[in-house]
Amino acid sequence: MTRKAATGSKLTIATLGSHCSLQVLKGAKDEGFRTLLVCEKRRLGLYSRFGFIDEIVEVGSFTEILGDTCRRRLKQVGSVLIPHGTLISQMKSDEIEKIDTPVFGNKWILRWEADRILKEKLMKEAGLKIPQAVRSKNEIKGLCIVKLHGAAGGRGYYLAWNRESFEEGARRLIDQKIIRAESDLYIQEFIRGVPVYLQYFYSPITEELELLGIDRRYESDIDGIGRIPAKQQLGASSIEPSYTVIGNIPLVLRESLLEEVYKIGENFVRTAERLVPPGMPGPFCLEGVYDSEGKFTTFEFSARIVAGTNLYLDGSPYSGLLYDEPMSMGRRIAREVKVAKKRGKLDKVVT
Ligand code: ATP
Repeated sequence: MTRKAATGSKLTIATLGSHCSLQVLKGAKDEGFRTLLVCEKRRLGLYSRFGFIDEIVEVGSFTEILGDTCRRRLKQVGSVLIPHGTLISQMKSDEIEKIDTPVFGNKWILRWEADRILKEKLMKEAGLKIPQAVRSKNEIKGLCIVKLHGAAGGRGYYLAWNRESFEEGARRLIDQKIIRAESDLYIQEFIRGVPVYLQYFYSPITEELELLGIDRRYESDIDGIGRIPAKQQLGASSIEPSYTVIGNIPLVLRESLLEEVYKIGENFVRTAERLVPPGMPGPFCLEGVYDSEGKFTTFEFSARIVAGTNLYLDGSPYSGLLYDEPMSMGRRIAREVKVAKKRGKLDKVVT
């Protein structure tokens, strides 16, 4: 499905139809790019509603972007592919690394995002305060959160406080065919406090780190359990909180916390440059919990745009401090591609 023909040497911003694709392509259009969406057949109805999408390439499944037809088309129109959470959750790291369309950011660091061990190494070396990893169910002491590998949007996560509660949760996930074995799970110390997602953009062109937004997630049903009074909670013995992301809620931090936010972001960028060249060009997110002392413990990073940035299509309280125009993360990505191309430095922002 094509609304406009490809225009010679002009670049096209392309992405997969899910997660934050609307924001990314709207931002690309605002910056004057042609836009292309790789879209699963079942979602054509949704995405054909939006006039800023110039071309839709229909696929049965997203892994078809590795196939000849899709690759040829992406190449023909000079695409830069913007990776997001759906790419990470639907394709293996090997497959992502094989993509020969230029990928915005560092596609090699996506393996570090998907692999819990590599992820922990990068966060540790960046000097971030991180939760203790619990290597075996026999070592569980105190409250822990049990996670699946990769970006699962919190799906299947549960709380455990001893071996029995761990095994009970694992059995449930095996029965539901969400995991195959207990070894598919990762146990981590549960940090008490409030969850916060810090949305950054690092430009290798200006060598500056920008904080473009902050959000928290709205998760079912952990965020709904507080609406059930204690008496009824105690009566309903089967309540098992889950962490499935349903949406995102905007957040601003106490201003006194911002200096530390920039410091940990910069440490992360420097460490990524050292461990996974070319580092962390483009959007990334540090995800963690602030405790009652105002100390931040990072439990995760996303080395690409996160869905929480969808809140700020018209800019955020933080992007407004840096730009005199509405600057979404999607638009910021497109701006970086535009500036890099103009200065002959496209290789600094894609891999
Ligand atoms: P993504 O799609 O970002 O990759 P994910 O599946 O990795 O998501 P997380 O963001 O890691 O999910 O976590 C999901 C939920 O679990 C969030 O509510 C978060 O606050 C909570 N959580 C994760 N780790 C911890 C921890 N160590 N202590 C307390 N809460 C945690």
